[in-house]
Amino acid sequence: MLTKIAAETVAPSCHPERSEGSAVVDGKPKLWFDGEIADADALQADLTTHAMHYGSGVFEGIRSYATKQGASVFRLRDHLERMRKGAELLGIAFDAEQAADATLQALRANRHRDAYIRPLAWVGAGSFGLDVAGHAQHLMVATTPALVHLSGANTRMTVSPWRRNPASSLPPLKLCGAYVNSILAKREAKSRGFDEALFVDDAGLVVECTGANVFLVKKGRVTAVEHRDALPGITRDTLIALSSADARAVTLDELRDADEVFACGTAAEVAPIAAIDARVFGDNPVSRELAALYARVVRGEEAAFRSWLTPV
Ligand code: PMP
Repeated sequence: MLTKIAAETVAPSCHPERSEGSAVVDGKPKLWFDGEIADADALQADLTTHAMHYGSGVFEGIRSYATKQGASVFRLRDHLERMRKGAELLGIAFDAEQAADATLQALRANRHRDAYIRPLAWVGAGSFGLDVAGHAQHLMVATTPALVHLSGANTRMTVSPWRRNPASSLPPLKLCGAYVNSILAKREAKSRGFDEALFVDDAGLVVECTGANVFLVKKGRVTAVEHRDALPGITRDTLIALSSADARAVTLDELRDADEVFACGTAAEVAPIAAIDARVFGDNPVSRELAALYARVVRGEEAAFRSWLTPV
């Protein structure tokens, strides 16, 4: 039995503010799938696809930006290295060079410049058993001008009653099944009228958000929340390099007591947090300054960091 995959993840290039230069060549969104560029709506996957039943896949969230030197992908190699680690755990063959090339091909085929890029490697059809050995394996890369996480200002966060997957059960990599944990927390937070959930552990230490890492600013000092259950974010790493932030464990009490809090991630970039439950934060000048610096870095306007950009 066959069903369509991924068509809904590839929004047509119709965002008014992003339409310039992003028109699809023949009007149809394209995907890179198992070695070829294809029309997104023509692709199909078997309903026995293992990843659909058990989450046996690994993905990345990457961004490309329009720069003065043309479209460029930010920290492509670092994203694909994280993806390689996840693929290795699942026994999925993964060639980072091929995935890099597929990413560039997908962006070119869609003529995307400012885009969110979604590579996914997964275990395909075979059987309903949990042993993935012998199953088909696939790789796709979709690109979309639409963003997926915390792209608005004024994010209101709540402490989640859910715990983050402990690293001793699920390593903090972008394994598909692990994201059910984020989905539950996001649903619960939204059901109480918040935008985002904050994971805290049993000892009261801050972990991360559903799809972003957390920083605080106190008396002008920037601190990156460190926790072994949190994804080692590439944006977090970038911001530590840009701000010489400390990286250390932070309690929820300390976070609430901060002058500023922001979340960060490839999609979210630097997203100031307006409130954590009843604690409302005021002005956020340090977060804004860091957000502006980050925006210059990803757009190739800071020469010292251009090696992080891969031209499309
Ligand atoms: N934590 C989680 C759970 C995420 O899904 C993401 C997004 N990939 C992040 C943090 C931020 O990571 P990055 O900066 O590498 O996008």
